[in-house]
Amino acid sequence: MMSRYLAVVLLAGVLGSLANAQEGPHFDGQSWWETVKVLADDKMEGRETGSQGLDRAEAWMTAQLKSAGVEPGFRGGFLQSVPLRRREIVESQSSLTLVHHAKLMPVSLGRDAYFSLRIDQDRAVEAPLVFAGYGLDVPEAGYNDLHGLDLKGKIAVVMTGSPSSILAALASHYQSSGQRWKTLRQAGAIGIVTILNPWSMDIPWERNAANRTHPVEALDDPALDDTAGEKLAVTFNPAHAEELFVGTGHTFDEISVLARDRKPMPSFPLQLSLRSRLTVKTEKITSANVVAVLPGTDPALKGQYIVLSAHIDHLGIGAPINGDAIYNGAMDNAAGDAVVLDVARSLQSAHAKLRRSILFVFFTGEEEGLLGSKYFTAHPPVPAHSIVADVNTDMFLPIIPLKILRVYGLEESTVGETAQKVADSLGIAVQADPEPLRNVFIRSDQYNFILHGIPSIATKVGYDPDTPEQKIMKDWLTNRYHAPSDDTNQPVDMNAAARFEEIVRDIAVNLANNSASPQWSPNSFFRRYAQGQ
Ligand SMILES: [Zn+2]
Repeated sequence: MMSRYLAVVLLAGVLGSLANAQEGPHFDGQSWWETVKVLADDKMEGRETGSQGLDRAEAWMTAQLKSAGVEPGFRGGFLQSVPLRRREIVESQSSLTLVHHAKLMPVSLGRDAYFSLRIDQDRAVEAPLVFAGYGLDVPEAGYNDLHGLDLKGKIAVVMTGSPSSILAALASHYQSSGQRWKTLRQAGAIGIVTILNPWSMDIPWERNAANRTHPVEALDDPALDDTAGEKLAVTFNPAHAEELFVGTGHTFDEISVLARDRKPMPSFPLQLSLRSRLTVKTEKITSANVVAVLPGTDPALKGQYIVLSAHIDHLGIGAPINGDAIYNGAMDNAAGDAVVLDVARSLQSAHAKLRRSILFVFFTGEEEGLLGSKYFTAHPPVPAHSIVADVNTDMFLPIIPLKILRVYGLEESTVGETAQKVADSLGIAVQADPEPLRNVFIRSDQYNFILHGIPSIATKVGYDPDTPEQKIMKDWLTNRYHAPSDDTNQPVDMNAAARFEEIVRDIAVNLANNSASPQWSPNSFFRRYAQGQ
């Protein structure tokens, strides 16, 4: 291992040659790593939503923000309390059974399928199954899996994924749990069985299934429940999905190949019904978002806010892997919190004269379904229309050198253009989402801002397909993503982290100081959510 001193000297040299004279470099990677080490320490117990470990992490973050000199984001302080409901399955009193005429075939919980408890399901359901392809109805792309299909009173079986004819952002949007339910409910369905696409599973089935009885949280607010009325929600193992297709003239292999090739799907009734019995314990709990503000200085613009966000929660203590049960979440997402904290410190201490105000937001409940950001965007501390952009950092993965910046939402708004400009000025290439099947665009907190009409992006360290870098990332996802080994005993590239921080800082400064407010692109699908534009 290279000595720390040498690493810093080399780092300073690289950054110095890239930054323009009057700006930066502002970061050395060290302060970033120090924050990651605190938040991902075993003492924080994996920062599960509603846990004492997360409370400790948030208390530490609040103290850091205070000492950095930024102001509390709410009248009452730095914390926004988020009311939640915790659900825990009693698996010994729960079951799934496939019914074929009079024949009953038990579904093995864990091996074949598990209940998706984020959705508040009925305790007993029985209904026929219908294969609804990808379960998509996307008028903008002229694609409809549900055409001519009778789903009334039935359970839709869908495959995650989308045909390549649908743009990535659009396909991701229509696969969000709320939008998917809206589509299928309108067609008359009462529940959904989701078969995970074997060609885009980040986490092996066994690891997901091992934590299926772990409690989950949901917002304790019926007005914010976009899957209300969904009576059944089950996730199915693609390795055991063949049994669903018996007697239909179709095989799961055929479906799977279409999903791999991103071709249109057939849809047809299955020969089976599904019977569920579900027992759940529920409990009211609270957690919090941490919010700080750096007021702008231009009287005409300081009433507008740029949000820099990162989720601070992770998965807590779960099924042990290699004897370790603490899911530390170092890259997911202590690393992102460290970026937002460092940028807050830097902008405050540089007395940067920013025209617009900046909100620094650390969300709870991201891992439970973007709960903290959903609550925050529904109950913001400033008038909703005064939030003009969100730049979100979640699991940006500085485990390879930063040569390419990946920008989710690159082409959707002028926030994407700003990111492109900043990267250009630092000699870093930019790429849009090259892996649309993974639905990353809707898998983090920026998505709730988008749904409120606010132009947003999320950025990460990028890489090209079929390169050694892609292999490193793929191995990371398979072995460390949502596993206890996402801890501080893994190799990281502090130079990449420092350069990434410089980018986020520059984007924030640009967005805060541009005379024009951020705007959606004229052709962006997501423009429809913007109010008054
Ligand atoms: Zn995560």
